[in-house]
Amino acid sequence: MKTSEKLKILADAAKYDASCSSSGSNRKAAPNGIGNAAASGICHSWAADGRCVSLLKILLSNACVYDCSYCLNRRSNMLDRATFTPEEVADLTINFYLRNYIEGLFLSSAVYASPDKTMADMVEVCRLLRQKHRFNGYIHLKVIPGAANDLVLQAGFLADRLSVNIELPSEASLKSLAPQKSKQGILAPMKRIGENFTGFQLERKKSRNSPSFCPGGQTTQMIIGASAESDLHILNLTENLYNKMSLKRVYFSAYIPVNEGPLLPALATAPPLIREHRLYQADWLLRFYKFQSHEILSPAFPNLDERLDPKAAWALRNFDLFPLDINRASYEELLRIPGVGVTSARRIIQTRRVAAIREQDLKKIGMVLKRARFFVTINGKYLGDTSLSYHRVVSALCKAEPPGTNKLLHHSRQLRLF
Ligand code: SF4
Repeated sequence: MKTSEKLKILADAAKYDASCSSSGSNRKAAPNGIGNAAASGICHSWAADGRCVSLLKILLSNACVYDCSYCLNRRSNMLDRATFTPEEVADLTINFYLRNYIEGLFLSSAVYASPDKTMADMVEVCRLLRQKHRFNGYIHLKVIPGAANDLVLQAGFLADRLSVNIELPSEASLKSLAPQKSKQGILAPMKRIGENFTGFQLERKKSRNSPSFCPGGQTTQMIIGASAESDLHILNLTENLYNKMSLKRVYFSAYIPVNEGPLLPALATAPPLIREHRLYQADWLLRFYKFQSHEILSPAFPNLDERLDPKAAWALRNFDLFPLDINRASYEELLRIPGVGVTSARRIIQTRRVAAIREQDLKKIGMVLKRARFFVTINGKYLGDTSLSYHRVVSALCKAEPPGTNKLLHHSRQLRLF
């Protein structure tokens, strides 16, 4: 099969993988080498569904020996199969790079032959790029669950970012929908990557000559909606992955029905894109707004409200904590006000050092008043409408959702990458 035919099959097969985004690396071009992985050196463009399209994003192979129920590439599906050689992927990457088509490589693979054989070939792609072609650009490599430790270690010394897909939010779902994978086979390499990442970062602080291990950190991807776990379960797991495995990002991928099966949601089901969107917002609260998962959801409220962003939903459940005075609230309190982001909270603190903030300053500071007004006072004045009942506040906040959220409710088509 010609390389171009393989490329068509394997680029198309990679489109369901969401776990690539910014490089996380900052490494300039080496003397006599080509490419760089400076944070500003990689141009990111984002598809409307959040997928990153700036890298050459391909599978090494789609000839899978596993049979995960939800996956298009599973062994039991009849489809065109192809496998690149490591040399072909390295040559394609360099050719595309030199033509300015891409800034780096995102390489994943189905499991062909065995996890070790697949991982060894992926590591070989990296070795060829780094050592033969002296490619210094960004490489994001998927780790194959079950691959040997030393292969994972080698991958960490060659790639900028690694990811092990957690796939499903619980061991029970994994057993039922991906029986050839195991929780241990996924979490063990993740843990090792996390430990090595932290260990080598400390070493590099002591000596610049220490090797760098996976400088962009690790990410993972979780399929949402293929199994029955609640958002509370998913968010607790996400929080644990950040805290215990030093993950940089957890990506959520709305389940796209491509196969039929008694254990899967019906084929006609549209991907739960609004749920995915709300989970990303909740993830943002964990990472940047100092929230903990038990504050966002609880056994009494195990799922995110699809009508409202999670911060607004939290604020409404804790309405007794509001209104907050914009000129007195602490930074942490400001972050909890719907319509106040990290940048506007910082600006409020900075502006207050010089003079008290006036009502007319709020828009300039970047506050989204149509959401924030129900939760704040300024110089003694409440900005919301006191005649509104709780339900009308909810309805006003739903209307104040940013444009695009409604589109998500209707837009369920998977975008093509190439
Ligand atoms: S291992 Fe499972 S999810 Fe991965 S390509 Fe094979 S069938 Fe698909």
